Amino acid sequence: MHSRQSYRTPLFALVLLACAAAPSTRAQTQPFPFDPADPRESVADNAPKPPFVSSARRLLTAPELKDAPDEWIANSLDWVNFILANYQPSLVETPVRRAAMIRLDDVLHIESAPRKPIVQQYYKARLEAALREIETTRVTTGLRIWKLYNHGFLVRTASVSVAFDIVPGTREPGFAMPQEWIDRLAAQADALFISHQHGDHANPDVARAFLALHKPVVAPEDVWTAEPTLAKAVTHLPRNTGPAQTLTLANGRSLSVVPYPGHQGPRILVNITLVTTPEGFTLVQTGDQSGSEAAGSDFDWIAQIGRDQKVDILMPNCWANGLGRMVRGINPALVITGHENEMGHKVDHREDYTQTYTRLFPLRYPAVVMTWGESFFYQRPLR
Ligand SMILES: [Zn+2]
Repeated sequence: MHSRQSYRTPLFALVLLACAAAPSTRAQTQPFPFDPADPRESVADNAPKPPFVSSARRLLTAPELKDAPDEWIANSLDWVNFILANYQPSLVETPVRRAAMIRLDDVLHIESAPRKPIVQQYYKARLEAALREIETTRVTTGLRIWKLYNHGFLVRTASVSVAFDIVPGTREPGFAMPQEWIDRLAAQADALFISHQHGDHANPDVARAFLALHKPVVAPEDVWTAEPTLAKAVTHLPRNTGPAQTLTLANGRSLSVVPYPGHQGPRILVNITLVTTPEGFTLVQTGDQSGSEAAGSDFDWIAQIGRDQKVDILMPNCWANGLGRMVRGINPALVITGHENEMGHKVDHREDYTQTYTRLFPLRYPAVVMTWGESFFYQRPLR
């Protein structure tokens, strides 16, 4: 109808028409009802969304690229590495570090990123560098915490090294650490704590590498039920809210452990693992804790952990529902999030650093945001 009208209209009227049309085009995309205090947690895949984002889950993250030239990816990843090398993780984060993390989001949210050799090489180079650093780092005071893939961490004090949820990478063959690196990682840690059965947290090859060195692997009882031999070799500490249990290590030292009885959804068992080292440092890793928030749910005891324990570092999954409630309940000295950019997920569930910053900001808790292979030196008092 528009074109038929304009065919008979003088030029000045056409200009007027064009001017009048412009605001109405904008009006189609502008008013999307939104509360800026909404942290966008637990957003349903089919929740309402404006047309400029691909998913309601990604409303507070800049829209993703469908693809990108290798040159842009290579320059981006080299620049990210340059920034991360020069601006180490710290309590007060320099703005350019955040820019680098958000550029990482841009690259890793390309749909095909997990299959791109250039991204796979980037992942493996970062993990290999971390492995070498772990092999050559001695800790004499405080602790050092390395963030590995997804929700995996290795924490080292003067007397012990504790690993959480270490997995090689994604199912994409090029996007995984080779077994030799896994064996070397197992040699560097005294125990492995697995939060739950999902493949982005629990990996049989990693568990076997630890067990071969007589190092305990602790997991909920529903992990690897289809592999009875492996399941039998795993330590199933009774899941409860305390008192703490003693886990004896191959080197004769011991850890004090509370395997809190968490859940992902109604059925999957998740150990929210609290570990206290011989030096008295207390760590909590949550796995994919995302159970019900109703009365009588896990939140009843999550809200009390900080009353019973003095937690140094909390490692939550970045997309936990009720992240604020979890952090306030556990009340740690420091938060280090995990699970960003899990590359086995499709783009709208590849939770990004941008979302992590958005969710941490209102909590007003000390937090350090790290990517694959980075580490942070923690000491008391925190600085
Ligand atoms: Zn997960």
